[in-house]
Parts: sequence; structure tokens; C-alpha cells
Amino acid sequence: MPEYWTPELETRPWPELERWQAEQATAMLAPLRRRSLLYARLHAGVPDDLVLRSAADLAALPFTFKDDLRAAQEAATDERPFGDNQAAAQTEIVQAISSSGTTGRPLYYALTARDVETIGDAVANVWFTAGIRKDDVVAHLVGLPMVAGGLPYADGFRRIGATLCWLGGFPTERILREMRHLRVTALLATTSFALHLSEQWDAVGRETHIASRLAKVIGGGEPGLGQPELRRRIVGGLALTHLRETMGLGDVIPSMWGECEVEDGMHFNARRHAMLELIDPESGQAVPWREGATGEIVYTALDREATPVVRYRSRDHAEVVAMGCACGRTGPRIRCIGRTDDMLIYKGMNVFPTAIRDLVVERFAGRIEPMLRLWKTRRDQVRFDQPIEVDVEASAPLDDAARGALALEIEDLVRSQLQVRIAVTVLQRGGLPRGVYKNAIAAVRES
Ligand SMILES: [Zn+2]
Repeated sequence: MPEYWTPELETRPWPELERWQAEQATAMLAPLRRRSLLYARLHAGVPDDLVLRSAADLAALPFTFKDDLRAAQEAATDERPFGDNQAAAQTEIVQAISSSGTTGRPLYYALTARDVETIGDAVANVWFTAGIRKDDVVAHLVGLPMVAGGLPYADGFRRIGATLCWLGGFPTERILREMRHLRVTALLATTSFALHLSEQWDAVGRETHIASRLAKVIGGGEPGLGQPELRRRIVGGLALTHLRETMGLGDVIPSMWGECEVEDGMHFNARRHAMLELIDPESGQAVPWREGATGEIVYTALDREATPVVRYRSRDHAEVVAMGCACGRTGPRIRCIGRTDDMLIYKGMNVFPTAIRDLVVERFAGRIEPMLRLWKTRRDQVRFDQPIEVDVEASAPLDDAARGALALEIEDLVRSQLQVRIAVTVLQRGGLPRGVYKNAIAAVRES
């Protein structure tokens, strides 16, 4: 029998759910303009008596962009430290969380006690869908409490009643040892750490003389677990029963999407607290939810008190794997294709680094390790007019000639399939870094 965290919302027919959410959004919108200076401005032209009857009706409202939130934050005062989108009194705010801004000053979000409750509920819903239960002992490896993956993720585990072991911040060797000693059954990790663990876990067992109880790995933070070869390696190396991808957005709710036992695309689990749209990122027009559809996800928070967002452009690009699921959950099941911020332009062609990785790793499975590093000359480099430099790692020892030949094969494949030229270096086994905290494909070449 499938189990759900919020059965009445998770199994409700999608159009009915959208109608219910539209009612919540209607009730939220009118007072919003009195609470937030940002939305007083953005929604100045929106009629006071606007009634939303479906997700499509959200099109009557303007989008909110990250730059809007950034500008609102810059207007901070002593009375409103979170700026023009601080929609709750300072005395009501109990916590600040920080976005993991890669450039510039990070964005901060404020939470009231009720916001902490609603976010905890949504995040717990994701972990529950991903198979975490009361009897699990969970290793939480995020190092910083203030980031979206820190305290909010931890709250979700505790809300389920699982045993939270917050090992983030310790050196890697200690994390691995303590995971055996604490009889950890579940782990929240980046893809690159899960891969590292699959190579080291047996050695830790020999050192500690404690049998592995690890059965569940949840990938959080970045896309990666959609890649079949990567999944096979991690599941095989750790003898897992569960390998589930999850996704969220610190600006809205840190975790909102999670995979069920079918392990083929993520369900939307924040149904009580956020409303979805799928749009064409160029035109801003709605893209209907159906199998095979792709677009950018737009979120509207339904009950956020302190720093609300309406029609927020996530910059996350998703593909709809299917509508509905054997588990009984309704609505879209998605995979994240990549983030707008990660997109590269090679001679006018748009390409996600993940598309290059997924193609190469799948076609060369067994010959190279399921990961890849792409070099940029600056962190914000988007345009490439020369072949993009890429490192991969050979699975077996190869001489120089064999590595050169393999590099040419990979370059040919990417050119013919993606119309993008790359310049490949094949490294020996172990040549690419494996980190606890970092999962990024792109690296910056120091010059
Ligand atoms: Zn399902």
C-alpha cells in the first residue's frame, strides 16, 4: 500500500488541486499589497478584486525575478532589515535563511514561526515521499545551518520523527566513520559525495568492523541523479534499496519535489504551500503540463508570511517525465534539465553542461567514470567561441595513446549529437575531485 504525507492533496486530481490552490492564492493576494512594499509596487496595476479560478489565471499577474528580490533587499532599513519584501514585523520573525548565491551578496529570507512550520511540513512531505520514516537514522551532511539545505532540511527530518545526525561540518574521514558508528540508514548527499562514498564505504566497514545499515540515499541540491549510469554505480556500490532525487528552491521552499518508489521523476510535494506554472522562458507563455513538455518552473507561495513570492521565476528548467504515477500521486513527474544560470552558449547554440555529461557518461559507460568537469576562464563565463575544455576520468588504467584516442571519440560524439565542440582530456582513475559539499560540473581555471 502506498503511504502519503498529505493523502488528500497528493492524490487529488490535478485540475481540482489547481482550483483549490487558486482559491488560496486569491485570498493571499489582496492583503499582500498592504504587507509588502515590493508587491505594492509590482501589483500596483492588479485589480483589488481579482479572483483566480485556475493556475492559468495567474497570467494576470507580473512575474517576480531574482533581480526584484535583490533590489528589494537593497532597500533594507533598521526597521526592515530584509528590505521592501519584509512582510512581517521584526518581532514576528524567528529565523533568516540565505540563498547560496554564487555571485554577489546572497539573498536572505525571513521566516515567522508559522513559516518555519509550513516549510517544515513541505520538506517533510518530500523526505516522506522519498522513503524516509521514523525508524531511519539520517546523516545530514550540509555544512552551514543558515543555507536552505541546512536548518530547513534538518527540520523536515525531525518532523517525520527520523533520527537526525547532523554530521555536516566535520572532515570527510570522520563523517564516514561516524556514519558506521551511528548505524546510519539514510543519507542526504550531493551526487558527487554519493559516488565518493560508493568507492570508500567498504574500506570504512573494514576499519570500524561495523556492518553497513545504509539503505537509502537522497540526492538534494543539484540535478544529477537523473543519469542512469550514475544511479547504477551508486545503488550497486552501496547496496541501496532507495536512491531518490529531490529538488527545491531556497527563495520559495528549500525542498518541494521528491521521487517515490517508482524512482522515475520527481513529484510536487509542496501542494499545500506553493502553486506551480510551467512557462516558455523566452516568451513567458504558459506551457501545458503534459508528458514530454519542457519549460521553466514558476512558483507562487500560498501562505508565506515574512518574505512572500508570487509568480517567481525559478530559472530551473524541467522536463515532464509523465503525468500521474503508479504510486497514486497526481500531476506532473519531472526531471530538472538544468538552471538558466548554468546554460552555456557555444557559437550561438544553447547547451546545458548536464546535457554534455549525460550524453558522454551514458555512451561511454564502463570506459569512463560517471562524472565530468568543464572548465571556464571566469566564473560568469557563458559564451564559448573555442572548443569547451572538458575533463573525464578513465575507469581503467590507459596509456597516453589510448587516452588520446578515447578523447577524440568523445569529442566526435558531442559534436555530432549536440553540435558543440569540446576539447577532452582523459584523466587517470581518481583524477577528478569528489567533495562532500560541491557537486558543480563547471570549474574555473585559475590564470
Ligand atoms: Zn510516484
